[in-house]
Amino acid sequence: MDRQLDFAPFGYFTLDDTGVIVEINQTLLRLLGYQRHEVEGKHIHLILPNASRSFYQLYFFPMIRLQNKVEEMYFSFKSKEGQEISVLLNAVRQERDGKIYNDCACLRMTRRLEYEEVILAAKKQVETRNLMKQKQIAELDRLRIELESKQNKLLALNETLQEMAITDGLTGLGNRHYLQESLSTYFMRPDEQTCPLSFLLIDIDFFKKVNDTYGHLTGDSILQKLGQVFREESREEDVAARYGGEEFALVLPATEKVEALEIAERIRCRVENADWNTYGVTVSIGVATKVPGDTENSLQSRADRALYSSKDNGRNQTTFGLVEGTRPYKTRAVEYEKDEGVF
Ligand code: GH3
Ligand code: MG
Ligand code: MG
Repeated sequence: MDRQLDFAPFGYFTLDDTGVIVEINQTLLRLLGYQRHEVEGKHIHLILPNASRSFYQLYFFPMIRLQNKVEEMYFSFKSKEGQEISVLLNAVRQERDGKIYNDCACLRMTRRLEYEEVILAAKKQVETRNLMKQKQIAELDRLRIELESKQNKLLALNETLQEMAITDGLTGLGNRHYLQESLSTYFMRPDEQTCPLSFLLIDIDFFKKVNDTYGHLTGDSILQKLGQVFREESREEDVAARYGGEEFALVLPATEKVEALEIAERIRCRVENADWNTYGVTVSIGVATKVPGDTENSLQSRADRALYSSKDNGRNQTTFGLVEGTRPYKTRAVEYEKDEGVF
């Protein structure tokens, strides 16, 4: 063996096809702690720990026979003192002088193993951190879901509160506040000047007597039933509300006087003819239709005055609130002359 190969910075040895070490360089001998004569001519088992022997038998030899080479195989040697030495092995199988040789070169892997350990430790650390991160993300997710659910409950509660703030508890109709808001909205519409609007005020006749005779609970159920009637008689765009006590109001957008009176009379007749058990219930109604220059207040006062007229004139009737200076009219039936506002 020439000197360069003998002292090369890698281990070198040659095996014949029976596994006997034919040649070995000084670098590897030093690594293993042997003298040349102790190794050359001996079977490779001499420098292999038990585990590597079977590996050599079952893996290394079949592979080099099959492929004529082995590349980057992790291998363990055993030194003379019994210490395990890890190497990375490359081998080629070639013929010289009519004989087959398996030439092997190996590099010690102490450093590499150390690096691998460092890398492994770092990898473990990263994995631990990832795990922690995942746990934190899961916890954050849980908190986010909890927060969302609480926010949704709060929103639902807010909606309920908002609904309650504009709803009359007994009848389920809008309350006075809601009615005023709706009226304001109509009066603020850009097409307010050209868009007709009618307003109905409805008051139960002699309701006090009903309460006094049949009790407040009966009175309450009458209010509820009337609420249902007004709901049923309202179109989608109308607003039906409890004005207060035993008074109700209907806001009828896009409704002229004639149609408003028809609606009022339809309601009045329906109440009069409804089945109220032993007692009879009637309502008096005041109707007003918006004219140029009207405000929410003026419209309501006109309907209010008309309602009082209905009461004064015997109840269970509808009166149209004419603008001052014109003649007020009232009736029990729908008989009206469009131009004069007589009905
Ligand atoms: P009028 O025909 O002049 O309207 O006579 P009225 O008896 O209906 O009017 P009045 O203003 O004298 O009495 C209204 C009654 O309505 C008195 C009050 O006890 C009753 N009332 C108001 N709110 C409620 C309620 O929520 N439930 C019940 N049961 N009665 C109510
Ligand atoms: Mg009243
Ligand atoms: Mg009344």
